[in-house]
Amino acid sequence: MLDIESHPTTSVSTETPPDKINLLGLSREKMEAFCIAQGEKPFRAQQLLKWIHHNGVADFDAMTNISKNLRAQLKECAEVRPPEVVSEQTSKDGTRKWAIKIPGGGLVETVLIPDGERGTLCVSSQVGCSLDCTFCSTGKQGFQRDLTASEIIGQVWLAIKSYDAFPSNNKKIVTNVVMMGMGEPLLNFDNVVDAMNIMLDDFGYGISKRRVTLSTSGVVPALDRLGDISQVSLAISLHAPNDELRNQLVPINRRYPIADLLAACRRYWEKQSDTHRVTTVEYILLAGVNDSTEHARELVHLLKDFPCKINLIPFNPFPSSGYERPSKNAVSRFWQILSDSHIVSTIRSTRGDDIDAACGQLVGLVEDRTKRSQRHRAKSSQVQALEITG
Ligand code: SF4
Repeated sequence: MLDIESHPTTSVSTETPPDKINLLGLSREKMEAFCIAQGEKPFRAQQLLKWIHHNGVADFDAMTNISKNLRAQLKECAEVRPPEVVSEQTSKDGTRKWAIKIPGGGLVETVLIPDGERGTLCVSSQVGCSLDCTFCSTGKQGFQRDLTASEIIGQVWLAIKSYDAFPSNNKKIVTNVVMMGMGEPLLNFDNVVDAMNIMLDDFGYGISKRRVTLSTSGVVPALDRLGDISQVSLAISLHAPNDELRNQLVPINRRYPIADLLAACRRYWEKQSDTHRVTTVEYILLAGVNDSTEHARELVHLLKDFPCKINLIPFNPFPSSGYERPSKNAVSRFWQILSDSHIVSTIRSTRGDDIDAACGQLVGLVEDRTKRSQRHRAKSSQVQALEITG
């Protein structure tokens, strides 16, 4: 039996009157344009942003420094509508997970990992994902749709709301955000950039650019675009030290191979004003697949001149994943080889295991729309058949 607290829902209702604009997802620039379109001065945008993101206020009537007339006007054409939470679970280690219902169908998840003074929120960007990485439970769902900017920043809003820790309360529950939940953020470029801009904005959440991280599996052209307009931190999902293996695990590698991805990361940092930041390289260790000493040495060779830190993530198996968690020995051996070669690396501790919030397990029990599990089962029976007949 899992040791969790489970609450059915804490949300504000969210059915969408389609003709109203949701102000939750407007960046400062877009909020100013909205205010001007309402016949207001641009500074109104700052007031609205502060009410929404500093004070967590969704009701226009509570926005007391805005005139009654404007409040009435806003109610006609706009709303502040957070995502609808359908369940909320808290792990015995303090990790909290929200399942969010997305209009039009589907669920996404948001996970908060508290760690002392820090709280890292893992935010989703799409319902499902089209990239079909073989070890990923989200990839099994196939792609349903992009999240809107409101649905992305709304995950930050509702996580903070559930602790009543908005900046105006001088409490900090979310200190770091990682765009590492469900979906490939660079395939939902504009909405993700808008949401990240609100995270960084002093009239939004005022989180440092170093503490907002976009993680990509390697959509190279979009990464180049991002470098032109954003300064957030960067993580890449590498998971293999060579193209042959990465082609199997992360299919987008067939289009943008490792050398292209690493070159794009270098270009990204060349565009930044501060020069000492490095790429985080995510490497999920899959037993018997990419966790051998040879793989570790190959990884050292690949990354010896690439400014990075490596995050080793022992795989968390989920039903029909087809992969297994590596042994503790294999993990520490792998880490030791990196460390002996002076590559900064950490082993990610598993958090939220009891609520399926660990990496790669978001929306753990999903319909397997890509039919991968059938393919896997078919392959296993072929292997068994060969073993029997052989
Ligand atoms: S690992 Fe990321 S990019 Fe790959 S299928 Fe999963 S969500 Fe998509």
